[in-house]
Amino acid sequence: MTLLATSVKTTCPYCGVGCGLVAQSDPQGNIEITGDVDHPANFGRVCSKGAALAETLSLDDRQLQPVVDGKSTSWEIALRRIADKFNESIETYGPESVGMYVSGQLLTEDYYVANKFMKGFVGSANIDTNSRLCMASTVAGHKRAFGSDTVPGRYEDLELADVVVLVGSNLAWCHPVLHQRLLAAREERGTEIVVIDPRHTSTCDEADLHLPIKPGTDVVLWNALLGYLVENGFVDECYVASHVNGFDTTIAALDQPSIDDVAKMTGLSATDIRCFFAMFSATNNVVTVFSQGVNQSTAGTDKVNAIINCHLATGRLGKPGMGPFSVTGQPNAMGGREVGGMANMLAAHMEIRNETHREIVQEHWDASNLVTDDGLKAVDMFQAVRDGRIKVLWIMATNPAASMPEALSVREALEICPCVIVSDVVTENDTLAYADVQLPSQAWGEKDGTVTNSERCVSRQRTFLDPPGETRPDWWQIAEVAKLMGHERSFQYDSPADIWAEHIELTTLRNDGQRDLDLSFLRDADYESLSPQVWGSTCESGNRFFGNGGFYTANQKANMVPTLYCPPADQPTQDRPFQLITGRVRDQWHTMTRTAKAPRLLTHVGGPTLTMHSADIKAIGLADGQIARVSTDHGTVHLPVESSTRLREGNVFANIHWNDQYSSQACIDTLVPANLDPISGQPEFKAVPVTVEPIKNRCFGYFLSTEKPNLDDLFYWSANRTDAGWQVDFALTFFPSDFSDWLASTFSRLQGDDIEAFDYVDSSRGDARCIRTRGDQVLEIAFISSSPVSVSRDWLRGLIAEEFDDTFGVLAGIPAESNKDKGKIVCACESVGENEVISALSDTGCATVHDLGKVLGAGTNCGSCRPELRRLVEEFGVAA
Ligand code: SF4
Repeated sequence: MTLLATSVKTTCPYCGVGCGLVAQSDPQGNIEITGDVDHPANFGRVCSKGAALAETLSLDDRQLQPVVDGKSTSWEIALRRIADKFNESIETYGPESVGMYVSGQLLTEDYYVANKFMKGFVGSANIDTNSRLCMASTVAGHKRAFGSDTVPGRYEDLELADVVVLVGSNLAWCHPVLHQRLLAAREERGTEIVVIDPRHTSTCDEADLHLPIKPGTDVVLWNALLGYLVENGFVDECYVASHVNGFDTTIAALDQPSIDDVAKMTGLSATDIRCFFAMFSATNNVVTVFSQGVNQSTAGTDKVNAIINCHLATGRLGKPGMGPFSVTGQPNAMGGREVGGMANMLAAHMEIRNETHREIVQEHWDASNLVTDDGLKAVDMFQAVRDGRIKVLWIMATNPAASMPEALSVREALEICPCVIVSDVVTENDTLAYADVQLPSQAWGEKDGTVTNSERCVSRQRTFLDPPGETRPDWWQIAEVAKLMGHERSFQYDSPADIWAEHIELTTLRNDGQRDLDLSFLRDADYESLSPQVWGSTCESGNRFFGNGGFYTANQKANMVPTLYCPPADQPTQDRPFQLITGRVRDQWHTMTRTAKAPRLLTHVGGPTLTMHSADIKAIGLADGQIARVSTDHGTVHLPVESSTRLREGNVFANIHWNDQYSSQACIDTLVPANLDPISGQPEFKAVPVTVEPIKNRCFGYFLSTEKPNLDDLFYWSANRTDAGWQVDFALTFFPSDFSDWLASTFSRLQGDDIEAFDYVDSSRGDARCIRTRGDQVLEIAFISSSPVSVSRDWLRGLIAEEFDDTFGVLAGIPAESNKDKGKIVCACESVGENEVISALSDTGCATVHDLGKVLGAGTNCGSCRPELRRLVEEFGVAA
């Protein structure tokens, strides 16, 4: 793999921070990805995921040719098949019988063409996106309050604020570079940080106040804050009088419970609530950052508006260091919103149901069949596939068979759908298993276009690698199908620059300040060399919106919206006593298509887990690492439990990443019911009542191999890559009588007379260990034990594919002195483990995170691990 140029500026493909990166060759010719010091999102910083991007560029698992009905074929045949299927379905059943499900991973240009194709020419608004699962409630909340989906503030507001409130946001793990910027500013100005989150996350390790709120009760807290602000004279009466509608109605609708009642409802202490209210009131410079913990709820839109109400009442938005701030999960959730990539939007922040907006779009597109009404949102769309209303579905850059709620129902829908088309970069994922047509898309580094980050900054993702095989851009695939369907004139694009220019013109058409999105300032900019640009440059106060009003409502005033507390749709019951919260881990991304290619990103969290309060684990009769069956009416998963005191009893947490490619049964969204916010259509992922039961396994194992093992016959497994092959955690309902034979016949793909096995078996204790070698080289190591295997994995991983010289040490499970167990890896960049940090704190006089950096190197590269280092300092440092 070689770079197309010596140095190419691009943008990270992961989270909504949208960090600028530079791809270049190191002196050995290897590709190196570093932070772009000129990019206004990160100024050179990257997180652990960004830092490991160069390790994810290999072509293994890549889909390089179109496939139709399981056979590789040409683009001509694949595109013809799609066009025919669309035409047949539209002619026979109407335009509502087809749909597209797209993604915040797409570039703005891809999104633009997909939206134009469906809403302008197919004549159906059945195009929705996985952003529906991510930030649809924010879009709905923004529109209710501001009349437009506008993010008022900038990242620098987090640095200029006196108080930053993080609501439902594990910023340290999910938006790490923004978190680092906040912490750096705190060093300078002593910013106070409040975190409102049911769990004590890594972000809380750096907070001045953590409010461990009961899932789903945020509206109670924010309504109470609003009441407090009014009662105690913190309302900015001048701002409200000039720029706000609905103040009196909203205040009149407040329940006004006592602080003690608020404490009872939210599960917080009255003292903490008072402290939060005092911190929020003490300064005008308050930024409230919110994310999935707010959005992914049946009351998501109301939560957003309850937060915005407090900022509108105090006039705290649109000026430096203040405002409500939604941070998006995906790299181009914002770009998708800008081109109307959701079923209830038109393009350029215009509305389908607004006649003037339709006229503008019609004029620009010369559309043959412009939609007049909203289409089906994600959950409803898959329901329509399931009941046969949608017969042709085109899925792009997303994996709904793993990520949608009721994922098993989604799989059933895909199974019975007459035509499923999937554009993706990989050969296998949970969704591709149902594809009639697979199209090979270009991956990050190969594709070319723009993305918009959470602060409205448009950046270029540039091509720096030769697109391999027959891969093509997503926009090209749609444009070619549109042409085959008779729309040649409207889809004549030679490059993403053509699409970008068309998009810019649409944002300016009959705008005159009527709409927030106006990209006219980029009209003359050169697309190739385009530097990051924050839109909103026509507004005052440094690209911030609404400091002096100017909302996009009929009277240009914002709306305060009465928000009544509505509990999560399903409450825990005797049968489903635990409340499941789903979320991300620091070093993985979505369904792991890219991040699972970098072994070091699997050293921090290396498998699926169910985090439970220690008391709950004990109560159900499990111990750390044992497997639990977690179930709802919609599905069952098997997850090893991990005890913690960092969440309340009765709450459990599982990450969203592991799926059928990496574990036997860990796809968490198979459990989640499709309970929706009635306004945004966003599902609730943060408050799911579940049953957790112990599974009686006879033994647990850990297996390492140079080759990808066979996993077919195992009851429970979780597998991923290592630097020298693969590792598998597994559980069995029996103890294998002949261990090395069982190993060879069950897992191993290595055969041959030259393979030697060394083993140690103690069936009375349920312990067995085996090493298989060829010559001097270690090819496989396996451990099984009656309890979860506790040997140093980092040590064993280092032995695979290396020369073998320590049979006794391996069979005894005891590393040599020079190979001491590092413990769980905390710093993935420098491979520093928890045990090393603890001994540095106790033995070498380290007393701060800075000291740990000097002695161990931990936290000195990307910095994503610094909150965890801080926790360890507090827990194990001398001062502690
Ligand atoms: Fe990428 Fe990390 Fe920056 Fe997010 S914070 S854009 S994942 S480098």
